[in-house]
Amino acid sequence: MNVLSIVKKNKLIIIVALAYLAILLFAPDQAILSLKNSMYYVIEMLQIMPVVFLLIVAIEVLVPREVILRSFGENSGIKGNILALLLGSLSAGPIYAAFPISKTLLKKGAGISNIVIILSAWAVVKVPMLANEAKFLGVPFMAVRWVLTVIAIFLMAFITAKIVKKKDLPTDSRQAEELTINREYCIGCELCAKLLPEYYEMEGDKAVVRKSPETKADLPALRNSVEKCPAKAILLTEKEKAS
Ligand code: SF4
Repeated sequence: MNVLSIVKKNKLIIIVALAYLAILLFAPDQAILSLKNSMYYVIEMLQIMPVVFLLIVAIEVLVPREVILRSFGENSGIKGNILALLLGSLSAGPIYAAFPISKTLLKKGAGISNIVIILSAWAVVKVPMLANEAKFLGVPFMAVRWVLTVIAIFLMAFITAKIVKKKDLPTDSRQAEELTINREYCIGCELCAKLLPEYYEMEGDKAVVRKSPETKADLPALRNSVEKCPAKAILLTEKEKAS
């Protein structure tokens, strides 16, 4: 790995370090204050993130992909939206803890709109926050803000899902391309098996995956099968392009 690629990979850390250096040179007092604030958050993160990582491992290992697909997948509809709102609202911890959890849910099949709802609810309508809001500003204030905020969250989720697709998101570079079919959604139309018999076959009235994607050259055809599936039952998780 050459210096340029190291710089490219760590550009955010380098920009922050340079910013600290500049503040240290021109306003040392502010730099010390800023470092103290940063240390506060670093310590907070060191306390919270191990719990978050344990939660991620639990989701990865204990929760089947089908459950995530059914509960939060693109076809989960209003039930998925409400579950996402509940998950975000009942969560604990700062918002940065929500991002790795959201990434894990996405990887296991959650839809973009439900991730927007989880993140937004986590940030602005968490139950402890609502309780404090009611205590200091009154129940009517809290209730009106909650209703308007939830409407805005659902609207944002809808718009984001229209604009951003899963293929636009970065994925774990260690993760291989993965092809799965949600049996529950499959309507047995046989289209995928006719389009790509080397990848799909029928097992009774449901399609199943015969093998994992092997070459990049197959990806366009696989994407086409994902798009053509009338039940949106096929999920293709793609590996990040090498940088
Ligand atoms: S195209 Fe979709 S709905 Fe039709 S058999 Fe394949 S997975 Fe099932």
